[in-house]
Amino acid sequence: MTVDAIVIGAGFAGLYAVHRCVSEGLTVLGIEAAPSVGGTWDWNRYPGARCDVESVDYSYSFDEDLQSNWTWTERFAGQPEILAYLDHVADRFDLRRHYEFDTEVVGARFDVGEWVVQTSAGERRGRYLLCATGCLSTLNRPAIAGLTDFAGQVYYTAAWPREDPDLRGKKIGVIGTGSSGIQVVPILAAQAESLVVFQRSPNYTVPMPNHPWSEDDLQRIRQEYPDRRTRSAYAPAGTPHGTYHKSALETEPEEREEALWRRWRDGGVLFSKTFPDQTSVLAANDIARQFAEDRIRDIVIDPEVADDLIPTDHPIGTKRICTDAGYYDTFNRDTFRLVNLRREPIEAITTNGVRTASASYACDVLVFATGFDALTGAMTRIDPVGPGGDRLSEIWADGPVTFLGVMAPRLPNLFSFSGPGSPSVLANMVLHAEVQVDWAVDLMVAARHRGITEVEPRRDAARAWTDHVAEAAERTLFLKAQSSWYLGANIDGKKRVFMPYAGGFGNYRKYLDDAALMGYPGLVLTAR
Ligand code: FAD
Ligand code: NAP
Repeated sequence: MTVDAIVIGAGFAGLYAVHRCVSEGLTVLGIEAAPSVGGTWDWNRYPGARCDVESVDYSYSFDEDLQSNWTWTERFAGQPEILAYLDHVADRFDLRRHYEFDTEVVGARFDVGEWVVQTSAGERRGRYLLCATGCLSTLNRPAIAGLTDFAGQVYYTAAWPREDPDLRGKKIGVIGTGSSGIQVVPILAAQAESLVVFQRSPNYTVPMPNHPWSEDDLQRIRQEYPDRRTRSAYAPAGTPHGTYHKSALETEPEEREEALWRRWRDGGVLFSKTFPDQTSVLAANDIARQFAEDRIRDIVIDPEVADDLIPTDHPIGTKRICTDAGYYDTFNRDTFRLVNLRREPIEAITTNGVRTASASYACDVLVFATGFDALTGAMTRIDPVGPGGDRLSEIWADGPVTFLGVMAPRLPNLFSFSGPGSPSVLANMVLHAEVQVDWAVDLMVAARHRGITEVEPRRDAARAWTDHVAEAAERTLFLKAQSSWYLGANIDGKKRVFMPYAGGFGNYRKYLDDAALMGYPGLVLTAR
């Protein structure tokens, strides 16, 4: 049987895609590798996993009843609560029955007007293929010499066991100091007999002043919700928060300091957007960077450890800024050790720990917080093949080429969400998922009304969009972070191209709106 749409993934994007398709009367099959819904929030169950966007914004906006009937308990929701929310959404809209879980898509080819999808459970066919496969869903498992010899337990933050392992009293080593490592470290430090953090690159992190929402907060939020959503809809990052009204360089030092303190105390990612020129003008960025450095030195007692924790290879915010619950404080404990891998690289993992160029560190447990083959990894693994025999991995060999960050040339009737060429990780990804899914499903519905069976981006239109994505990045400081996963630099052999669209969520959304309003001039529409 051929369904109208196959949706891969049951995270925020996939669940909404299934819901939208069903609402439009399309037949749909969802396929998900995990045993249940949740995507990111199902896989990343490590202790301390928490969202850095306020809960009331990092949630669906498409259904007012859903919005008003769900009560977020905290300002920044933890992984269990977000997973519970997605479970609730799946039940409320009866989405599970459309899914095959525990099923991996391993390939797909477009054959005589339909996608033939190879899965671990056999072949499935659909007229459209909607890839809600996630931007941070393909693990990076570094092949460190000796890992298979290690006699202790090994965990990956992004594939944390469903049954939380008891790590109390253990000697723990954590490899990786991105957002996941920085979140997990203080929690593990509280349980461990000793903890060693193996840091290759330090990252900036801003404390997260999380707190439970009070009844007053919730009442206020319910009242202001429509306005909050309106302000987010075309905002640069898809949240109601803007930047300071003046550029850093036009602001007097005292006023500047006050603005920075306000953002620092507000907590989280917003600090990287305190001033409008902070991510585009180096001198403005330096002001925020210096402020963050001073905060690290305020907290960390040992000045040499503080030096090791301060990034020197990128302007602040040009790698994803992290948010934490006491990360820097942890370094003031005696049982805690920071190992700077730039000074003493890992030589090998041994049966009982990690050997670097300078010392051996005994560990019972190794936790890898080593990130992802981000933005493209999940799609190139599937490696869809178009009607002309073109593979996505070939089409993207020199970097991802997309039309509006949702389609790729030579692959008709295929949409991919949260991926390269779209603001993706630079925006509130829940609203981002809604916007992309709506665009794709609206196009499918319009095609059905007009008897169109195939939709495919024109190659020149995809080239023009991809050039525009590159130009938008060049107007920012992002390209100065040479070790960033935004550029694919964390994966050996991956082409270094800045992948997200840095022109802002609101502007991106206008491009999508205009394409639809103008009748999709960038697409070839075919009736067969
Ligand atoms: P995902 O939630 O990644 O879902 C993709 C699903 O597709 C997965 O369940 C996967 O199993 C499935 N899949 C992929 N390939 C296949 C295949 N071949 N076959 C079958 N199934 C497949 N964003 C923010 O805005 N704020 C945050 O604070 C934030 N925190 C994060 C914390 C962590 C630890 C991580 C990893 C990411 C975080 N993100 C955050 C980004 C997050 O990924 C997005 O916000 C959002 O959840 C992505 O939803 P999605 O539906 O696009 O993809
Ligand atoms: P990440 O940012 O890519 O960090 C991976 C870390 O592992 C880096 O410190 C990296 O060092 C290190 N590493 C990789 N390979 C290594 C090796 N072979 N040896 C030693 N170190 C190695 O991954 P992440 O922390 O999972 O975060 C990814 C993204 O997910 C974030 O940027 C964010 O968008 C999202 N996220 C958000 C939150 C949140 O706050 N809500 C939490 C988790 C994740 P290098 O930097 O030198 O490569």
